Amino acid sequence: MSEQHNAEILSESTKKKNFIYEIIDEDLKTNKWNGNVQTRFPPEPNGYLHIGHAKSICLNYGIARDFKGKFNLRFDDTNPSKEEQEYVDSIIEDVKWLGAEFEDRLFFASDYFEQMYQFAVELIKKGKTYVCDLNADEIRATRGTLTEPGTDCADRNRSVEENLDLFKRMRSGEFKNGEKTLRAKIDMTSPNINMRDPIMYRIVHEDHQRQGNKWCIYPTYDWAHGLEDSLEKITHSICTLEFENHRPLYDWFLNELGVYHPQQIEFARLNLNYTVMSKRKLLQLVKENYVDGWDDPRMPTISGLRRRGYSSEALRDFAETVGVAKRDAQTDISLLEFSIRNDLNKRAQRAMAVLRPLKIVLTNYPEDKVEELEAINNPEDALMGKRNIPFSRELFIEQTDFMGNPPKGFHRLVPGGEVRLRYAYIIKCDEVVKNEDGEVVELRCSFDPETKSGTGTSAKKVKGTIHWVSAKQAVPVEVRLYDRLFTIENPTSDENWLNFLNPHSLEIITDALVEPSLRDAKIGEHIQFERNGYFCVDPKFSTQEKLVFNRTVTLKDSWTSKK
Ligand code: ATP
Ligand code: MG
Repeated sequence: MSEQHNAEILSESTKKKNFIYEIIDEDLKTNKWNGNVQTRFPPEPNGYLHIGHAKSICLNYGIARDFKGKFNLRFDDTNPSKEEQEYVDSIIEDVKWLGAEFEDRLFFASDYFEQMYQFAVELIKKGKTYVCDLNADEIRATRGTLTEPGTDCADRNRSVEENLDLFKRMRSGEFKNGEKTLRAKIDMTSPNINMRDPIMYRIVHEDHQRQGNKWCIYPTYDWAHGLEDSLEKITHSICTLEFENHRPLYDWFLNELGVYHPQQIEFARLNLNYTVMSKRKLLQLVKENYVDGWDDPRMPTISGLRRRGYSSEALRDFAETVGVAKRDAQTDISLLEFSIRNDLNKRAQRAMAVLRPLKIVLTNYPEDKVEELEAINNPEDALMGKRNIPFSRELFIEQTDFMGNPPKGFHRLVPGGEVRLRYAYIIKCDEVVKNEDGEVVELRCSFDPETKSGTGTSAKKVKGTIHWVSAKQAVPVEVRLYDRLFTIENPTSDENWLNFLNPHSLEIITDALVEPSLRDAKIGEHIQFERNGYFCVDPKFSTQEKLVFNRTVTLKDSWTSKK
């Protein structure tokens, strides 16, 4: 996908209203919700959030913001065996970082357990649910298939009194895990399998991270979710397409109870190529140490992207750019990179850093002289000002900016050739020093004092400009370069998806050099290493002694595009 193409999507999408906005526009016209708009983001705290969640957060929060409504953060903490406080904390941090304001509207589904229980009792009294003695296998076996109807279970005919009694005893802990369930009495022959007497409660003798041992029956997603939405007076319950077939059930529960009834609206989930997005797979990558935690900069998690140097602005821009669709599709990861480049180009301070240094000695430059040369902090933003960088007799340039036997069209340094050092002088390569293995270890060059950037009197022009650092003042740092986590576009299409992990997804350069202005670079700052990409200080591995920089993204356009 070309940058031009992306730019077009970008400018289009900001003008475009998606189908959910159209629904809400209409609701406002008909005053369906008395002018209210209330959305929510309902994560299950069983993992860290990923960029797909970011899209859902931006969509839900964006709607609340644009329609002057409210946005809730609600944990769908209904399954104690997979949920942890660490996940709750990370999710809150990520949602806040994305800028999705939930103010005091932080809710937990588990706080509604008592109300849900009472709602279930109400449905029992209406004869709409029953306690079932079948175990999980038996329920599966009697549910039928897409082509065959299911069969009624004998417990379906239990009296209201018996159901009330059994349900109470389920709650009080009389039965073992899996011994009984509470099921909705709908229709075992329904063409929609979700409507074939779905389970509402399971017995799980496990402590809940917020409720302790108060409960041993836990509600299923289908039963709980609509109630959570209803209790919070959500107007538009936005979820991903896999819940489309669950909507009749969502509606059934709320209709039978006759309570406040939000509208469920489905949209296509975000899929990105060259990565995985299922929480189960991300958890496996973490647990089996394929990556360095949930916030590894190669992970598609919000915390990973943040550590990698993505800004929340860029993620919000990306969410807007991909838009909201009704059909599943895969989004090219280059679109995400486009958003981050676009953002960092405007805000990142420029600096010079040499990733793989090659020494240069300017033989005609005085031994002890240090010149301060003026450099522009950001050509996109004059307000970011200027800085000085030291220049001296011994410098380092990038190894790849010199070639002994250059191909045609190589405009950087070659034996006997000339090149401009950014913000400094034109230099000429007079001599190439090699070690006994024949490797180039040093270039002896001369500089032309008449060619100083900005002030030089010489009309001399050269085709290439390269970056450099001054040997004595440069600061040694570690640099981490990232590549795609997987080698194929669609790793989950193969059950052996781990075989497609990219062995070169992380490259660590321990002896890079940066200009001295970066000595005090702070966590959270975005810096463009000219010609090398956008970087940030790694919050985990950086120490007082040695800074560690992550490359956020490579550069597409740079001032040295003529190679
Ligand atoms: P699981 O249910 O397997 O734990 P999940 O990714 O659906 O995984 P949830 O915590 O249930 O996790 O998701 C919270 C919300 O984020 C849901 O409303 C869900 O629809 C939405 N969501 C999850 N993945 C994506 C995605 N890839 N794109 C857009 N929205 C997503
Ligand atoms: Mg889910």
